Amino acid sequence: HVPVICVDGPTASGKGTLASAVAHRLGYHYLDSGALYRITGLAATRAGLSLDVAHEHTIARMAGNLAIKFTTAGRVLLDGHDVTDAIRTEEAGMNASKVSALPAVRTALVALQQGFRQLPGLVADGRDMGTVIFPDSGLKVYLTASAAQRADRRYKQLISKGISATLPGLRADLEARDARDSGRSVAPLKPAEDALLLDNSSQTVEESVATVLGWWGE
Ligand code: C5P
Repeated sequence: HVPVICVDGPTASGKGTLASAVAHRLGYHYLDSGALYRITGLAATRAGLSLDVAHEHTIARMAGNLAIKFTTAGRVLLDGHDVTDAIRTEEAGMNASKVSALPAVRTALVALQQGFRQLPGLVADGRDMGTVIFPDSGLKVYLTASAAQRADRRYKQLISKGISATLPGLRADLEARDARDSGRSVAPLKPAEDALLLDNSSQTVEESVATVLGWWGE
């Protein structure tokens, strides 16, 4: 039985940083499930589709047939083209949130996500890793941080990349995304019943990693 650690939580809570560091420490595979929704949103937008129920089944078909490759260098390829930067914009995050509220799209991505569960183990981050995709996971972490803290981190991240942004704008965006992710009918964002809560507002990445490894028994 292949072990899985799930890290779920709201936008910009630091899931990706934590989950990939834990995966690295354990020598496990890493699944960034949000990237799959971001790529689906990008592919649908490029195809000129509106990201709503009118095109739910067309978008779901696209999601089920995505030719995605995660390279060892940390790049994401769609049909052989590098989309790493294109899927990281705020707009791509918002588009991901829209397509992710469509039930058929979520269903189309289930098998793809479960396919990442390979030896020696997997660390998966997202919104429903513990509740829907890997309910039998041996450790479910629900990561939180205050909205102010999350907006601040995202702001610094963008500014360091030379991308302009404003704090109030970012905070409004992430609160809108959280509201959609929590309010949707399928796989709403919420902690699994057996999840352990980790608030990293005043923790360094190393401290969060140590907490999770401790829970895992390392
Ligand atoms: O985590 P990330 O910000 O990359 O996710 C982008 C969007 O994809 C989220 O706002 C959420 O709507 C959606 N998502 C999801 N389920 C997941 C991962 C992401 O619905 N497991």
